[in-house]
Amino acid sequence: MNTNCDIHISVDVLEEYGLGRMAEPDIIHLEEHLLICQVCQTRLEQIDEYVQVAKAAAAIRRHQSGPLEGGRGAGFRQDSRKPETADVA
Ligand SMILES: [Zn+2]
Repeated sequence: MNTNCDIHISVDVLEEYGLGRMAEPDIIHLEEHLLICQVCQTRLEQIDEYVQVAKAAAAIRRHQSGPLEGGRGAGFRQDSRKPETADVA
């Protein structure tokens, strides 16, 4: 059983670590714990995936807010309404 560590790293802290926002003394402490704690390793993997998704979503949001000024959103909608399937040979 993996019960030799009674204080696990909190999800908030792991998230900060995943985002690269952590200060170095804390990182050392956290990595020392990660080395011996399977529970927190698994947790970090899950948070890592979440962080990747969150970052991608933020990037997409940033991209979308740009073209909005030019009114390209309306153009896209018109394009998608064209019946393309009929002309395909
Ligand atoms: Zn732990």
